[in-house]
Amino acid sequence: VSAIGKLYTNNSGNPLHFSGMILDITQQKEDEIRKNDFIGMVSHELKTPLTSLSGYIQLLHRNAKKAADNYSADVLQKATGQLKKMTGMINGFLNISRLESGKIHLQKQQFDMDALVQELIGETKLSASGHTITFLPCPPLNVFADKEKIGSVISNLLSNAVKYSPHKEEITVHCELVGDQVQVSIKDEGLGINQSDTKRLFERFYRVENKENPHISGFGIGLYLSAEIIEHHGGKIWVESEKGKGSTFHFSIPVSGQ
Ligand code: ADP
Repeated sequence: VSAIGKLYTNNSGNPLHFSGMILDITQQKEDEIRKNDFIGMVSHELKTPLTSLSGYIQLLHRNAKKAADNYSADVLQKATGQLKKMTGMINGFLNISRLESGKIHLQKQQFDMDALVQELIGETKLSASGHTITFLPCPPLNVFADKEKIGSVISNLLSNAVKYSPHKEEITVHCELVGDQVQVSIKDEGLGINQSDTKRLFERFYRVENKENPHISGFGIGLYLSAEIIEHHGGKIWVESEKGKGSTFHFSIPVSGQ
């Protein structure tokens, strides 16, 4: 049940009357849960064939390399990159459905943030032809957090930096210790975002309308999921941006996990 109401007062603030409305939203809630379960089920079902496909392609890629067939090796590597992207999207949907049904659980462990960021930059470079990604390393830093989920936040911010820099401008990644928090910043010199849009970027399915670059596709779930993951860690995520100049996304989480 959802209720809204308003209290009317006279000039001296004394209550005159109250008007309100009570709505039965059971049906909407049930529809929402069913839709969510459906997304979860479809995503889960799609993952299995994708994983097999990825395995077969990797096998062919290895064979092509052994046989010094550079053309096939190159094509198969590109196919692997596209499959990775698709798996990333499906995982995104799966995570949305888990999140909305309250099934997101953190599995925290000790790991080196610096090494994780470096590894993910390496992966991003594989699918980002032509972008320069500079890393300003932080000292080796052990963090207690969910490595896989924090990794997905970093990958998402890196792939956005690449995706929204269509003219292949430079990307700079920086991580530092600020008090008891580790802060990771990913700066691009790409399209940038209007001030009015920056407030809404972390909403589910929100995408900035981009008439000049309509081919840049997406679902508007990456930042929403990233924000949820960071919030679950007790951290924060934010952006500084200027239209036409570029954006810097930052997040910080407690080093000790609390
Ligand atoms: P998607 O990229 O799939 O649309 P996200 O949730 O990752 O979804 O991002 C939401 C929106 O925020 C994007 O559609 C884009 O308009 C904007 N955005 C995200 N990252 C950047 C960036 N680095 N530069 C400019 N715009 C960005």
